[in-house]
Amino acid sequence: MSHEDEIKEKLAIANRILVNENLTELGRGHVAYKIDEGKILIPGHLHDYNRSIADCNVSDIVKIDYNGKVLEGNYPESMHEFFFYIEVFKIRKEVKAALHMHAFYTNILFMTGQKLALASRDSFLFVDGVKSFDGLPLFVNTREMGKNMAEALGGSTAIVHRGHGTFMVGQSIEEVVISAASLERACKKQVLASSIGELLEYDEKEIRKTNTNEIRQEVTDIDWGYFTTRLSKFGMTG
Ligand SMILES: [Zn+2]
Repeated sequence: MSHEDEIKEKLAIANRILVNENLTELGRGHVAYKIDEGKILIPGHLHDYNRSIADCNVSDIVKIDYNGKVLEGNYPESMHEFFFYIEVFKIRKEVKAALHMHAFYTNILFMTGQKLALASRDSFLFVDGVKSFDGLPLFVNTREMGKNMAEALGGSTAIVHRGHGTFMVGQSIEEVVISAASLERACKKQVLASSIGELLEYDEKEIRKTNTNEIRQEVTDIDWGYFTTRLSKFGMTG
């Protein structure tokens, strides 16, 4: 299997994980990967065929350029809302993977204008903060909006379009999916915990000292294994 085929396989799995782990509503959103400068792998526009990323397979992945034109693949169009990815890939050369999801609890938290509290293990991945972005429509489908959002993201890993969903970047497909799942779990805990009492936050400096890259890598490997096992045993497609 070529390197590109391996990436496509992993990308299809990552897209299915978003649904299988209940990270997005109604099968919306997707995971994308910069395979080369100016070239992105992303699912085709499955919604035109009464499908979604829930059963995304290798043959559903298309390659687009930075204008959104399909260069290779079985679909005339890719999934929409790719302009954020394009603009981030241009600005942030270290970013290889990006995703978008309509995550329920993350949306709930940011709809109230609150910040993510450093109160749970899951939240520690976001010690640099999660940005919030405002602007209509609640559908990022123009280059201008994608650029504005990419600029608002700056050097961070996650930005939430208020009332719409999460946009996130990472250095690998695994990292971006694990981070997205962590953010949704952190927001869920915060929403529920704040309904019964005051949130107790950990000290930012202490978190930075103890939450090392080695620990993060280990957690990423463990979580990816967990998600892929659940997908193979309980997912819609193996
Ligand atoms: Zn969306």
